Amino acid sequence: MEIISNVHLIPANFVNMYLIVDPDGLTVIDTGMPGSEKRILKYMSDLGHSPADLRRIIITHSDADHMGGLAALKAATGARVYANKIEAEAIAAGRASREIKRRGLVGVVLGLVSGLIKTAPATVDEFLTGGQVLPVLGGLRVVETSGHTPGHISLFAPSVGVLFSGDSIVTGNGKLMPSRPGTTWDMDKALEAVRVQAALGAQIVCSGHGPVVKDAAGKFPQV
Ligand SMILES: [Zn+2]
Repeated sequence: MEIISNVHLIPANFVNMYLIVDPDGLTVIDTGMPGSEKRILKYMSDLGHSPADLRRIIITHSDADHMGGLAALKAATGARVYANKIEAEAIAAGRASREIKRRGLVGVVLGLVSGLIKTAPATVDEFLTGGQVLPVLGGLRVVETSGHTPGHISLFAPSVGVLFSGDSIVTGNGKLMPSRPGTTWDMDKALEAVRVQAALGAQIVCSGHGPVVKDAAGKFPQV
C-alpha cells in the first residue's frame, strides 16, 4: 500500500514493514516475523523490482517481529544492514536486546511467545547513532528513541514529514501511544522518546504496530 509517493506499507499479520523507493535503489525498514522476507520480495517484485534492487535494510530494534525476516532477506538481496550498536549485538545473537518483563497480560503473552520464536542471527553492517542522516527520501535522519528497548531507533524524513517510529510509538483508532509498559525496557526513557518525536514536526507516523496516522502534528500524546 502506497502511503505517499515512493513510501509503501507492507502489511503483515500484526506488524508493519516499510519499503522506500529511491532512484538509486530500495530501502526496507523492519523485516517482520520469520518468513516475512517472502512477503517483502513479492511486494518488490509486484513493483517491478528484482531482489538486487534492495540496497538497505534498517532495523529499529531486535525484537523477533521486527528482525525475523532479516537474515533471509539479506541473503536473498545482498542489501546492507543498519541498526543501533546495542540492537546489532542482539541481532547477531538472534535474540531480543532486553528481557521482556512478564508484567500484565500483554507482557506475559509476549514473554512466552518471544521464548518460542526462533530468529536467525544476522550481521549488521553499519551501526547507526542519533543525528546520522542516510541518503534515503532526500535525507533520513536517525532519532535515538531508547525505551522500548535499550538501542531502539526511529527514522525521520523531514522532506516529506514522515516518521518511522518502530515500537517507540504504536498506533490505533487514529491515536499515537507510547510503547506499552508490558514490553518496555525503561518506561521513563520510552516517554522521553515520545517527547523527542513530538518535537520533530512529523505529519505522518508509520508505526511498527497499528495503522499509519496522517495529520499527526496534534496527535502526539502529552506525556
Ligand atoms: Zn518491539
